[in-house]
Amino acid sequence: MKPVAIFGGTFDPVHLGHLRAAWEAAEYLDADVRMMPARVPPHRPPTRASAAQREALLRAALEGQDRLHIDTRELLREGPSYSVDTLRDLRAELGAQRSLVLLVGADAFAGLDRWDRWKQLFELAHIGVLTRPGLRSEHSAALREAVEPRRIEDCERLRGAPQGFVIDVPVTALDISASAIRAQLAAGRVPRYLLPEALLRDPALLNVYRD
Ligand code: ATP
Repeated sequence: MKPVAIFGGTFDPVHLGHLRAAWEAAEYLDADVRMMPARVPPHRPPTRASAAQREALLRAALEGQDRLHIDTRELLREGPSYSVDTLRDLRAELGAQRSLVLLVGADAFAGLDRWDRWKQLFELAHIGVLTRPGLRSEHSAALREAVEPRRIEDCERLRGAPQGFVIDVPVTALDISASAIRAQLAAGRVPRYLLPEALLRDPALLNVYRD
């Protein structure tokens, strides 16, 4: 069975930078990727689109292919979404043997030792660090100590074990951000070639971003 990889984000809206990174991770790891829209906690700036709207955008964006899927469990769960709780939930669903990979951007990974119960993450999943060529982040001593013995380069090893490894996943750097797309839509411009075509074909999907 293929590994399951999780790609989280606010996806406000989902764009080709997200989709290309998720697709490259799916191919590199030979995994099924689940795009997991995040619930935004009350102390964070709210997303422009509601959870239901972000989900509809993601569903439209994923049409016509079968490697990237949507997983709405964080939208459905009340209270704060800690990755460790999400992974525990997934582990219960997938069983003890299935290879499970949490994909995180290199920037987010550099701050992993500030995540809630972060050391438990390695007992539940592998971590795939989405890296862009030439980019190196600073890691704390605690993070280095936890990660170095877990680092692997061979995807085969990741497929053969349910959790516990850290692997770099190279992805193409596309300079696309949801905030820049929101600004373009608010200014009445059309972010064609930054968003999947399906989102532009149905004008109602993007109305929430237009002023
Ligand atoms: P915003 O501009 O609102 O901050 P964003 O475009 O960064 O949003 P998020 O939903 O916050 O989108 O990102 C979800 C995940 O996708 C994060 O792990 C982020 O690092 C990654 N990501 C965002 N943009 C890109 C991109 N252009 N290429 C690859 N990964 C990306």
